[in-house]
Amino acid sequence: MITSKDRSAFIRRRTVKNLLDIAAHVCIALALSFLVWKRSGSLAHVLIVICAGVLIDVDHFVDYLSVQRRFDLTLFFSTTYIEKGKVYLFLHSWELIALLFLLGFWLHSAGVFLCAFSLAVHVAVDNLQRRQPFVYFFIFRLINKFDVRKLFPDAEFLPEESRP
Ligand SMILES: [Zn+2]
Repeated sequence: MITSKDRSAFIRRRTVKNLLDIAAHVCIALALSFLVWKRSGSLAHVLIVICAGVLIDVDHFVDYLSVQRRFDLTLFFSTTYIEKGKVYLFLHSWELIALLFLLGFWLHSAGVFLCAFSLAVHVAVDNLQRRQPFVYFFIFRLINKFDVRKLFPDAEFLPEESRP
């Protein structure tokens, strides 16, 4: 049994970690987009790199809405909704990134290639922080039935009675 103070501290810890993660992704995407800007001078390429590197995280909304009907910013940023058990993260998938790379080469499209590259950098940064090295393969998540406890064995979870 944990106290409400422990619970608040846990939620605060998770929220700070997640906000720092987002800030790191924004910084990395801005740095990459700057390099792209220096090389190509294309505003479209800059926007693609920033959007792919940051907006990939919108797939967390899908996971959130699969368990919560009402949108609550605190609950969302603390990611306590994952306690309910499922992690889909459709965009965080190496398979999707590989397909985009192939499409970029096939179409000779620098935009598609840069989108794949920026997504790959984002997922690589996320991947480095996980104990389960295959968690960002969609097929691996599917085989494990999207079960958060199998996919994120290193995550800290709230006891059942304290879940939101
Ligand atoms: Zn991410």
